[in-house]
Amino acid sequence: MKKIITINPATGHELNEYESFSDEKVSKLISATQKRFSEWKRTSFSHRAELMNKAAKVLEDNKEEYAEMMTQEMGKTYKSAIGEVEKCAWVCRYYAENAAEFLKSEEVETEASKSKICYRPLGVVLAVMPWNYPLWQVFRFAAPALMAGNVGLLKHASNVPGCALIIEDVFRQAGFPENTFTTLIISSSQVEKVLDHSAVKAATLTGSGPAGSAVASSAGSKIKKTVLELGGSDPYIVLEDADIEWAAEQCKTSRLLNTGQSCIGAKRFVVVDEVYDEFLEKFKEKMALASVGDPMDDVDMGPMARIDLRDEVHDQVERSVKKGAKVILGGEIPNKPGAFYPATILTNVKPGNPAYEEEIFGPVATVIKAKDEEDAIRIANDTEFGLGACVFTKDLEKGERIAEEELNAGCCFVNQFVKSDPRLPFGGINASGYGRELSYYGIREFVNIKTVYVK
Ligand code: NDP
Repeated sequence: MKKIITINPATGHELNEYESFSDEKVSKLISATQKRFSEWKRTSFSHRAELMNKAAKVLEDNKEEYAEMMTQEMGKTYKSAIGEVEKCAWVCRYYAENAAEFLKSEEVETEASKSKICYRPLGVVLAVMPWNYPLWQVFRFAAPALMAGNVGLLKHASNVPGCALIIEDVFRQAGFPENTFTTLIISSSQVEKVLDHSAVKAATLTGSGPAGSAVASSAGSKIKKTVLELGGSDPYIVLEDADIEWAAEQCKTSRLLNTGQSCIGAKRFVVVDEVYDEFLEKFKEKMALASVGDPMDDVDMGPMARIDLRDEVHDQVERSVKKGAKVILGGEIPNKPGAFYPATILTNVKPGNPAYEEEIFGPVATVIKAKDEEDAIRIANDTEFGLGACVFTKDLEKGERIAEEELNAGCCFVNQFVKSDPRLPFGGINASGYGRELSYYGIREFVNIKTVYVK
């Protein structure tokens, strides 16, 4: 059987070896999951909530061990990994507390003696997940899906199998019956077969556009529902009346989040002429101060998740420079082992430049000058993506109007970098995907919204 070997991106050293599951084993597991669904769907919300609260406790009790696995497998800083485990516990508790209310039947007055809307689980849902937030991306799917009465299958990214097995184990330790949530150690080429299985009713994918397109096409050909959370090239607008110090700090934090490997990380900074120089100076100062090193230490950035991903980002920088971009910070691969890349700033970026058109999934900021507010909004929206966006201004009314009416993205923030929160829906438009996660929208993605009519 094919082996998966994990590598610590901070050192380049091998970590562990995992055996991929054969198609036969996968098929057996799907059948077992399907069987589990027939019982799980009949359990009460209070029973599911009790187990989900236990899952939160398991996460908290083992957060050091889980955080270390994330740091070793994909290089995020240990302190951010601890925060990620805590956020997973939060989403478990949030849905434990709210699922029953979110999925409560609603009576609707018609000519019938009784008519109502009810929410019923779909069955086995496949989650194809990425490595950047190896626990969070999965729990934000799994907590609502299991609370709704579905059962889950996980195909995690090939560089984080240790995290994938931890997640399955969290649910086991919390007392969820076997096969309520099952990790499949498989390659992406085996995903289509999983989707072909009649028991698998829907799929969710977080990752790149090509991966999303492959899974959605395959699911679509079998009329199976998908939710896609893909990349972004999130624009952050800085207007002339912004608190520049605050804006520069927020922009730096968002761009360097997870070593620049966050779908909702700020990627393009669109600054109006009047404050461009002042912003750039402050922003550069802050970016230059970011510490890079062993992710187990107290640093701002560890390595990127894999050498090939780091090289891809560097290639984007080099292609951007060839097309006229100026590197005013970073931009060079450090001469040491590991997938490290420095905080980098590009300016003089015009339409047609890779840094203008493509998502850069690493610590590279593109700062673009706009003539005025209208021009800034135009540039911000000049992208195929539409996940997050942010505007900095002291005029909160104006900020709210721009966020609500002008910016074309799923999550639009004012004076605060974009972050996910279980209480608010999360997702994108256009090439950033479709469907929503979190809040009551998230739990209603994988349910049969059923009409019941009694004459
Ligand atoms: P991918 O999008 O390729 O991987 C995400 C998940 O999809 C993984 O589980 C992967 O499995 C799986 N996958 C990939 N291709 C297919 C396919 N054809 N059919 C079924 N499943 C598939 O991410 P990469 O790791 O290659 O990263 C590449 C780029 O993706 C990044 O540079 C970034 O731009 C974007 N990305 C976006 C993320 C986000 O949060 N929106 C997260 C991660 C990446 P496997 O690992 O086995 O290939």
